[in-house]
Amino acid sequence: MNYAEQLQSSRWQMLKNRILAENNCRCQHCGRSDARMEVHHVHYIKGRMAWEYPDVMMMCLCCHCHNDWHAEHKKAQNALAIALKMIPATRVYTVAARLMTEAMKEIL
Ligand SMILES: [Zn+2]
Ligand SMILES: [Zn+2]
Repeated sequence: MNYAEQLQSSRWQMLKNRILAENNCRCQHCGRSDARMEVHHVHYIKGRMAWEYPDVMMMCLCCHCHNDWHAEHKKAQNALAIALKMIPATRVYTVAARLMTEAMKEIL
């Protein structure tokens, strides 16, 4: 089952509705409740189905914040890819950690 199919499954839909209800359909980032709400996985774990995550790893986000998050995430990944090409291997981990921390600060 690919990811798109997982998101269509009734198991995911049920879990998603529960997460949304527990957050009163309010975005955990900006607090609005008048936009479409989505459930975001804070981290993806390889090989897990969309519903095989603990509640703490899922967030209720409005579609705007959710789009922003993924756009920023992609930017951070691209920056990371460029950094990996440019810096000596010994420095990669500190620089990568700093880039990720800064990217997260903007988002959270
Ligand atoms: Zn929001
Ligand atoms: Zn997401």
